[in-house]
Amino acid sequence: MANKGEKRYRKVKRINIWSAIVEFVFFSILSAIVMAAAVQLFASYIIDSKITSEYERIQYMARLYENGLKNDDRNIYNLLVEEGHEYVITDADDNVLHINGENTRSDVSGMVRLSESDDEILVYQDAVRGFVYPGRNNHLALDFKGFREWMSADDNAEEKDIGHIYESSQGMINLPIWISVDVDNGNKHFIGKALYSANRHDARVLTILAGAMAVLVVVILITMLVAAIKNFVRQRRMINLYFTDMVTEGHNWSWFLIKGERMLRKRSNLKTKYAIVSLNFVNYRNYCICHSVASGERLLCEIYTYIEKQLDKKEMCAHTTSGGFALVLKYNDKESVKGRLEELIEGLCRLDEEHHFSFQAGVAFIEDAKDRKGRLLPRKDIDIDSVYNNASAARATLAPSVESGIAFFDESLVEEQIWLDRVQEKQQYALNNEEFMVYYQPKYDPRTNELRGAEALIRWNSPEYGFLSPGRFIPIFEKNGFITEIDHYMLKHVAADQKKWLDEGYKCVPVSVNVSRAHFIESDLAEQIRDIVDEAGTPHEYIEIELTESAFFDDKMALLNTIGKLKNYGFAVSMDDFGSGYSSLNSLKDLPLDVLKLDAEFFRGDSEDERAKIVVSEAIKLGKSLNMNIVAEGVEIKEQVDFLAGEGCDMIQGYYFAKPMPGNEYADRMKADSKTES
Ligand code: C2E
Ligand code: CA
Ligand code: CA
Repeated sequence: MANKGEKRYRKVKRINIWSAIVEFVFFSILSAIVMAAAVQLFASYIIDSKITSEYERIQYMARLYENGLKNDDRNIYNLLVEEGHEYVITDADDNVLHINGENTRSDVSGMVRLSESDDEILVYQDAVRGFVYPGRNNHLALDFKGFREWMSADDNAEEKDIGHIYESSQGMINLPIWISVDVDNGNKHFIGKALYSANRHDARVLTILAGAMAVLVVVILITMLVAAIKNFVRQRRMINLYFTDMVTEGHNWSWFLIKGERMLRKRSNLKTKYAIVSLNFVNYRNYCICHSVASGERLLCEIYTYIEKQLDKKEMCAHTTSGGFALVLKYNDKESVKGRLEELIEGLCRLDEEHHFSFQAGVAFIEDAKDRKGRLLPRKDIDIDSVYNNASAARATLAPSVESGIAFFDESLVEEQIWLDRVQEKQQYALNNEEFMVYYQPKYDPRTNELRGAEALIRWNSPEYGFLSPGRFIPIFEKNGFITEIDHYMLKHVAADQKKWLDEGYKCVPVSVNVSRAHFIESDLAEQIRDIVDEAGTPHEYIEIELTESAFFDDKMALLNTIGKLKNYGFAVSMDDFGSGYSSLNSLKDLPLDVLKLDAEFFRGDSEDERAKIVVSEAIKLGKSLNMNIVAEGVEIKEQVDFLAGEGCDMIQGYYFAKPMPGNEYADRMKADSKTES
């Protein structure tokens, strides 16, 4: 769960941030490129178109010169001067043959293709005013820096103020570039100085255009930035929502899982010992029923706030579901956690003095792994979800009580849980396959050592788990309700065994069968028992029904009714485990029982204990005077047998005489007994 939550959380974060960043960077770069290209293109287009006419003039002069050369015209240089362009004539090795004006041609040259002609022409940058130069892609380029300098100059400024750029007043500028034209079959070059004259107006249009584009780009970028920030804020809100508990408005389970794991994983927290607590407000549901869900939720808010206040730095609390809270606490030892939780629970109970509140807490410690040298290993694989689950399992052990309490998780709980699962998984199969066996424990008369009865006790002979005594599985069946099936099963087998032994001529005695408390809520229980026994064809006096003392606290009328019917059908009914739990003296008064089984606890301590003897003796007298037979359970030593015999106890069921045994061994006892009789 933690992993899934973490993945989902990361997805939410990653998508938004990255898409915004990628978008922003992509558009920034794209617009910068587009803007630069557009301005450069536009500039070169303007220069280009103006230079074309200059090129044509220089070409004309070159042809003029060539013709003059051919005709040996001495007047040619005068003619050329009239054309008004400065020029240089060089030979093939670039030696200057003739100059008109000032030769400011620089070495920087390149081929340029003018947009209106297919020719590529060779151009040279001007050494003094080189603002136009052969740029990349065979286009003329403009040096923006110099251009800006000129642009910013005052229209009426004197030439000297802005130095070499300025050619004439009225805001005109002449930007020179030298254009070379081959003459004399390429043996000579006529290199004329072309002048690109621009006025400020042109330049300003260009600048405004560039500016507008820049503004546009900036606007787009700002819009995107705003969108990204909005996105970011929205995402923060989303994360907040994702982590907020709707009831307490504090942190929720997802937050606990993700942030908790992150905190525990941090290297800086490695040396701190942490405990995970599953805390439950036991009375929550009841409180909601008695008041309202809204006030119940208000109370949860108060509880949450109170807990938060008790937390130290690097401790956490979240509301899980209904009355549940999850906590991460720092601790030194088990006792300190216990002390803190007790204090916390006390404080929580004081939130509303008018009500009696209770809180149950389960605690599981984060187990820290160490390397061979005893150094702590990073908590890379920490799974806070399963540690919390362990804490909850520990808390669940308190569940039968509704009082406040604290329980700690240990490994035996896991084993218990695993065992519980296995038993539940196998129970039906085991029943169908007759894996459950009936053992018989004989009951003897202590005065005559005569076999007077037996109790049927279940055993599970499991192919997977071996031979199991009832303590391992009966409590589980009692909880999950399977016990009623077991009771039927036992009764059926005991009735069948008795019938078989009777038919075989054994001297049978009554066998008691345990009927669990859960069974007694069924109103037709007596009929069910009768039918099962009748199906086997066993006379009813050979079957006795044992009820545990605790059953007598349930619906007394129903119980009385069932007992009455059972007696009517001719079954003896006994009260099992008398004296073990709450006193059932009161029940003795109302219920017409046949047998009183004194609980084994009476015979556990010192056999010479006078007080114990008095209690047993009085219990026997009480039973006797109510016309009941008395059976003492769990008797192991001779002194007890003798004492009980003296007190008039009717039967003893205990290891002194016999342990529970399989049916065939028990049958041998009956046989042996009947032999001594005969
Ligand atoms: P229980 O009904 O009180 O049965 C008597 C238990 O005391 C039996 O334990 C028996 O073996 C034991 N016991 C008898 N004499 C002595 C003795 O001298 N010393 C000691 N230490 N123990 C003695 P077992 O068979 O383990 O059964 C335990 C409990 O499981 C039973 O207590 C009963 O509550 C339940 N149980 C057993 N079989 C069934 C059944 O078929 N149905 C139901 N509903 N419960 C059963
Ligand atoms: Ca019993
Ligand atoms: Ca008993």
